[in-house]
Amino acid sequence: DNAKLANSAPGSLPRFRESQLDDNVGYFIKKKLRIWCRPRNCGWESGKIQSTSGEKASVLLSDGSVVTVPTQELVPANPDILEGVDDLIQLSYLNEPSVLHNIQCRYSQDVIYSKAGPVLVAVNPFKDVQLYGNEFVTAYRQKLLDSPHVYAIADTAYDEMMTDGINQSIIISGESGAGKTETAKIAMQYLAALGGGSGGIESEVVQTSCILEAFGNAKTSRNDNSSRFGKLIEIHFNGTGRICGAKIQTCRLRLTNACDYNYLNQSDCVEIHGVDDAQKFSSLMGALNTVRICKEDQEHVFEMIAAVLWLGNISFLVIDNENHIEVVADEAVMNAAGLIGCDTDDLMLALSTRKIQAGKDHVSKSLTLQQAIDARDALAKFIYASLFDWLVEKINLSLAVGKQQTGRSISILDIYGFESFKKNSFEQFCINYANERLQQHFNRHLFKLEQEEYELDGIDWTKVEFEDNQDCLDLFEMKPIGLISLLDEESNFPKATDITFATKLKQHLSANRCLKGERGGAFSVRHYAGEVLYDTGEFLEKNRDPLNSVTIELLSSCTRRLPKLFASALQQSQKPAGSLIQSGILACQKHSVATKFKRYLWSAGITFRYAFLIPENSAHQDPLSTSVAILQQFNILPEMYQVGYTKLFFRPGQIGALENVRKQF
Ligand code: ATP
Ligand code: MG
Repeated sequence: DNAKLANSAPGSLPRFRESQLDDNVGYFIKKKLRIWCRPRNCGWESGKIQSTSGEKASVLLSDGSVVTVPTQELVPANPDILEGVDDLIQLSYLNEPSVLHNIQCRYSQDVIYSKAGPVLVAVNPFKDVQLYGNEFVTAYRQKLLDSPHVYAIADTAYDEMMTDGINQSIIISGESGAGKTETAKIAMQYLAALGGGSGGIESEVVQTSCILEAFGNAKTSRNDNSSRFGKLIEIHFNGTGRICGAKIQTCRLRLTNACDYNYLNQSDCVEIHGVDDAQKFSSLMGALNTVRICKEDQEHVFEMIAAVLWLGNISFLVIDNENHIEVVADEAVMNAAGLIGCDTDDLMLALSTRKIQAGKDHVSKSLTLQQAIDARDALAKFIYASLFDWLVEKINLSLAVGKQQTGRSISILDIYGFESFKKNSFEQFCINYANERLQQHFNRHLFKLEQEEYELDGIDWTKVEFEDNQDCLDLFEMKPIGLISLLDEESNFPKATDITFATKLKQHLSANRCLKGERGGAFSVRHYAGEVLYDTGEFLEKNRDPLNSVTIELLSSCTRRLPKLFASALQQSQKPAGSLIQSGILACQKHSVATKFKRYLWSAGITFRYAFLIPENSAHQDPLSTSVAILQQFNILPEMYQVGYTKLFFRPGQIGALENVRKQF
């Protein structure tokens, strides 16, 4: 009874509260009811309360001994009649010792399966239990047996798939050695027996486990046959319930928990209150399908994300006095290499050396610790940024299918908003610069251009003063002496530091009213939205983005499709004039981050359009006269508009009034 099972899902189970017994100690003593306690701080033992004194209770244990335990730690036991129930939710008291006791009770009689609401609990018997085979399959299929079993779970899935026509999943979890793989095989055997036909494909499905285990399992200290890979087996059935095919997907991503990755755990925050990651993930997968990114490409996307995460965990060992390093050969570098499709040794080499020109030849030079960290992070950033661009390209391909340029479009721009934190770095510098550009756009369209237009059209108007942010934009963009030019200059200067950069800014830019030199490596910018204090720490390093040639060569030699594609897009964009330059960030890789950003903003122009009110039958008339006639007809007062040489200019609210009148017709 599925509905019943769903109703008793874990969230709605009656939960035992410790105080419950506190209130009822007297009752438990009087009725001689059993309780659980942990007298020796190890296993749970059952007993009966004899008496209490203050916070302590004296308990007679089943073995005849009497112990004194804190009353607070006593936990109620279930009545004997509930001993060994099929479904744990039948227990009156659902606490840890009662659950364990019930499972143990059953296990001691070789009943390894129990239910906990909709969930099947299996305990590994580590021996042959007589619970499987044709007789059992038939008994469960004909519903002659209803005790908890993997067969019953598989049977319910099969029935629901056939009646509702909805795909089903059986998810098995547990620690290593718990019996997941065996349980999966038992479920597959049942489904193969149910869906078996003349084709014999069901026996092939069952045999796949043998092959995959031979190559994919290994003995560990926890399990003699431990799975070293994850798999998802899809068994497909036709309309009559016969197996018609199967597909095995191995989970290659080698991922563990979010907290295990350096790129994720530094914020100490991997969860957001009220956000269901699983649900978000499923929406993401749905969206990828909607924009027709095929399953194979979706896998590639997640491989790249996993590769970035593993790259962040690669560590280095300093090997000499000059701070030269070698890469630590651990699972991080092996997994990263596996995911991008290159030799582990090649990745280690790319992250520990760079090529320098010596006369006509190139020689390899070892990297120092800081250089190696930068090279590793630059590679991770490059893969991530390229992946993002690739996704945008894929989406555009999907959206453009069969659509022609109509000449009519509405664009919606959504950018990162102005930011002012306690500590502001290069990221805020770029973001606030972008906002400054956008503000200028608004200023131009709302005030500057509009007022120019009034002038041109001979309109009688009072000039509106507005805060022009041109000075601030000049501060960022002026060449050769502006914030971005000076930043690029310092970034190319090997001996420069964040402090020399800050000093240079103060020396050269103090004449601009929007810049204020601050103490040490800091400076303030007076933005249109307020003053922001920037700390130059890491500015140069973040602006340089040091992706070296060894890393790019490595990417182009990878066996996986995406890293190869990313490297070739980059190489293409670095070709001198005459080559096809692609749009976006990849195109400007040889420029600094700030310069790329500036170019990017310059191409992202927005056009505003103003609509005119032109009646259909007025093609042969002077449109202005027709318009004025219409306005009079609609009782729009003359002070609410002005007639220019070519246009009508309205005071606010007039178009809305016209629309309202129109609606009444
Ligand atoms: P890992 O996470 O390491 O892959 P696992 O949960 O898949 O572990 P299994 O390999 O399925 O664990 O089980 C370990 C061993 O336990 C099996 O090799 C088998 O000997 C025994 N076992 C598990 N389930 C059963 C069962 N239902 N009947 C008999 N033996 C079992
Ligand atoms: Mg396993």
